[in-house]
Amino acid sequence: MSEQRIDHEPVVFGLATSAATSTRDLVLIRKLIVAPESSFIKTPSHGAKWTGTFNIELLNRCVEDSTGLVILHRHSGRNVGLSDDDRRSATTLIPYFQSAVPQRFHGSIVLGDDSAAGMVWSPNRRYPTESIEVRLLENQIHTYTQSPVEQDFRQFRQIPLVHGAVAKSLLANTRIGIVGLSGGGSQLATQLAALGFGGIVVVDPQRFDSDNRLSTDAPRAFDLALRAFKTSVVKRQVLTINPKCSFRALRSNIPSEDVLAALRDVDILIGCVNSLCARADMLEIAGRYGIPYVDVGFNVGVDEEIETGPQITSLSGNVFTIVPGDACMWCTGFLTKRKLENEAGGQDRSYIRLKRAKKSSREAAMVVPFNGLLASSAVTEVLQLVVGFSPKRDASLYRKYDGFSGEVHNWELTRNPSCLHCGSVVHAGDPIWS
Ligand SMILES: [Zn+2]
Ligand SMILES: [Zn+2]
Repeated sequence: MSEQRIDHEPVVFGLATSAATSTRDLVLIRKLIVAPESSFIKTPSHGAKWTGTFNIELLNRCVEDSTGLVILHRHSGRNVGLSDDDRRSATTLIPYFQSAVPQRFHGSIVLGDDSAAGMVWSPNRRYPTESIEVRLLENQIHTYTQSPVEQDFRQFRQIPLVHGAVAKSLLANTRIGIVGLSGGGSQLATQLAALGFGGIVVVDPQRFDSDNRLSTDAPRAFDLALRAFKTSVVKRQVLTINPKCSFRALRSNIPSEDVLAALRDVDILIGCVNSLCARADMLEIAGRYGIPYVDVGFNVGVDEEIETGPQITSLSGNVFTIVPGDACMWCTGFLTKRKLENEAGGQDRSYIRLKRAKKSSREAAMVVPFNGLLASSAVTEVLQLVVGFSPKRDASLYRKYDGFSGEVHNWELTRNPSCLHCGSVVHAGDPIWS
């Protein structure tokens, strides 16, 4: 292998889709193109310069995929900004891409060690905005802004679990969506409130009743007597713990329109839902808008044909962390078309999975402690995504829990290059109507 000397700034080209949320426009990079060294032209100036032939190649790709072009390059150091050269080349080049794919965002961005700056043109706008934030999804969410937080920066880098100014501001600026409150959902909402997360959006249409009271420690006796909504009980707890938390509750099902709109705005999505179909929906929402997804699931396997001894055959739980761009639940076969079809065909969606069932079991399952353990595990995943206390771990991860032995195992997730979800849903953004 030979090493090639590079005489220009490192640059890659992103093909981008987009999506609008109530608070921001998202520009989502679907593919990164690295230009061959032969495409670059020697230049005495600061920036990188490439051939017209390569520009035409890029233009064709953008038109074919209906994507915008985002040029990404790097300057070393903190507090970076675009140079005059960078600005000149962006304002010369981007209009060609705007006229070829006018419905998309286009731009040029420079990344530094912990900051970013750039010019981004909205669809049909002549002048760019420079008010941008860049998010990089790895085993931690890295957000680059124009002015990085200065206070106790060095200390934070070394001990990211310390609740100092940097960590506090990261948590206060992070909004978490939780779908499903009967399982681990309500227990993790209180932990997130205690940590100081700035926004929590919860989605659950149900009330507490005798069937589901043993899935969580959230309701008080009078909540059960009044059949209070789960969202109301969780709201009371979250705001008692952290009155500053911006709390929003939706008593709807996914994928209704109001839920989709609210979830597009979160930074991390957590699903505590019982069915595989609902989990597939959650993964799709998260993947489409570039949101890391944490999936919490638990069920009790019961075989009622066992005549002597306990009829419980399995106590299995999972915490999946799926970072868009890394392996997903389809890549691994946890979700398959056939499984979803079987489920839609009427399999039991409660905690209790009945095998060879003679009769339907409607007794509430005592799953509070199991859900609590999985909820705590999911909160550590959220903390990892925000502050990154474990530097060497993979981005996507599958934690498998066995309630009999009490053991948690990490199962490796491998990305499947032909996965349809990863290929067509991840970072697809809003659908474009043309
Ligand atoms: Zn530059
Ligand atoms: Zn996949």
